[in-house]
Formats: sequence, structure tokens, C-alpha cells
Amino acid sequence: MTGFNQPLGGNDMPRFGGPATMMRLPFASSAKGLDVGFIGIPMDHGTSNRPGTRLGPRQIRDESRMLRPYNMATGAAPFEHLQVADLGDVAINTFDLKKTVDIITAHYREALAHGIIPLTLGGDHTLTWPILRAIKERHGPVALIHIDAHADINDTMFGETVAHGCPFRRAWEDGCLINDKVFQIGLRGTGYAADDFNWARDKGWTVVQAEECWHKSLTGLMAQVREKIGDAPVYISYDIDSLDPAFAPGTGTVEPGGLTTWQALEIIRGCQGLAIVGGDLVEVSPPYDPTGNTALIGANILYEMLCVLPGVPQAPSRFSGLTF
Ligand code: MN
Ligand code: MN
Repeated sequence: MTGFNQPLGGNDMPRFGGPATMMRLPFASSAKGLDVGFIGIPMDHGTSNRPGTRLGPRQIRDESRMLRPYNMATGAAPFEHLQVADLGDVAINTFDLKKTVDIITAHYREALAHGIIPLTLGGDHTLTWPILRAIKERHGPVALIHIDAHADINDTMFGETVAHGCPFRRAWEDGCLINDKVFQIGLRGTGYAADDFNWARDKGWTVVQAEECWHKSLTGLMAQVREKIGDAPVYISYDIDSLDPAFAPGTGTVEPGGLTTWQALEIIRGCQGLAIVGGDLVEVSPPYDPTGNTALIGANILYEMLCVLPGVPQAPSRFSGLTF
């Protein structure tokens, strides 16, 4: 495993010390030479309710200090196969949301030119639309696996077209998505009209509401998702509020009846084998979870995305052999 960046180990520097980068990886000022770059987008001016996601990237990095390099369930060893670094944050304009989305697209256009897979630390969900614009320029329209309590397909919010409830409507308008390969998982809660989620269904997207996931393993769902996506390029957008607030209270628009952490792991691990071209973890709002657990779970989900990227072999752990 020579030549690849390694996270700073917990036996080389106490986990509460060392660099405050994602997984205590080296910081890189350019994507040149990397396979994967973690990028933070410290923004919350697209939020409609409780703010605070501007602080998400910092706390995700902080809580990522617990992560070790080997995935004990899947056998993935991403740092033996991929050159990974923390590319720092996008210098967004915190006073201007419309300028911010253009700043994000330009930033990702430059990073993608080096051929990397970007894994993004959010930040509110507005950011996925400008990332998908840059992804489209590089890869063409993509399949989408969107895990969220909300559909985020509003035409406008408070009269504005740029907001954290609109990114997938904008991405659809811009032709960023392959409509019969879009999956929205975990949607729930209250709406403005009974058919709120049907706009997506009418576009050919598959909507799996949270209630359909209750009390189940999602391994079978993901097998069908993989089958339908095939070898198309895929983007994963994970809104932490897809999880039940019992697990992830640190977010701005909470809905009860959500996914469990083990279902989240099944979803991400179920993406293995897909042609993933990017992913994000959004909507962690540190002020609403003083324990830091929401950010810690978010850091783990980003690590799990890293573990299923193309080029990372899997070697699943041995089962007990018991039947129960
Ligand atoms: Mn969302
Ligand atoms: Mn949401």
C-alpha cells in the first residue's frame, strides 16, 4: 500500500489530536493526482427552517477522527486502492445564494477536470444541484440514488428557485438526470398536497417512501436498484434527515418515522458495483445535536461511500455459521 495517502492512525497520534481533516487524511490544495477528494461546502443559506448546516463540514471532519481504514463488514480497504485527500472547503458567498451555486459549479468543474470522484460534506441540500451541473458536463446525465425524508422537488420556495427544497427539480430541468434511473428513498412526513411525491413518479422516478422500508432489510431493494441502473454513471445524495431523528437529531427539517442507521449502511453498501461518479452527505446541523452523533454518523456514511467506489475490492467478513 505504498504511495497512497493514509489516515493518521490512532496509535500514532491521539484521535483527539492531529489534523482536523476528513479522517485525518492529508490536505491537498489541488485534485491533481487524486482518485477521490473530500470537499466541504459550509453553507446554510438555502435552509427553510432550522439553520446551522454551515457548521456541518467542520463537525463531520471532527467526528470522522474515530474512523479506521478497514471496513470490518465488507472487507473494503479503500486506502490501499485509491489516492484520497481532503480538498478543503468551497469558498462560497455566504451573503448570496445565487452566486454561491455558480461558485460551487465552477469549483467542481475544476476538480472534476482532474478525473476525481468528489465526496462532499454539506452544507444544506441546495448544493447538490450545482454539483450535478458540473457532473453532467463531465459524465453526461446520471442515475441518482437520493436518500431523504423529503423529495426536494419544489418548483419554488417563498418564490425562489434556489433553495434546499428545490435541487432535484432544478437538476431535472437542466437535464442532469436519467429519469428512469432516479431513486428517492425514505420520503415521508406531512405535505402541502396528497400528491406531492407524484411529480417525481410522473417523471419516471422511483419513489420508495419510508413506510415501505419500515421493519425491513433494504438489501433486496438495493439489488433491484443496481439491476435497474446497470452500468450508467451514478450520483449518491444522502440527506441525513432520511434517518429517524432518534438516530440523527442534528438537522434542520426533522420528520419522524425514518430509516435506521443499519438501513443506511445497507443502502450505501448496496451501491457496490455501480459506476459511482460522486456523492454527498448533507444537512448535518451541529447546533441541534450537542452529542456530535449526527455528524459522526454522517462521517461514517461518507466513509461507506468511499468503500463502494469503483476499484475497491470487497472481502465480506466470515459469518458465524449459526442460523437465527
Ligand atoms: Mn434534502
Ligand atoms: Mn430532507
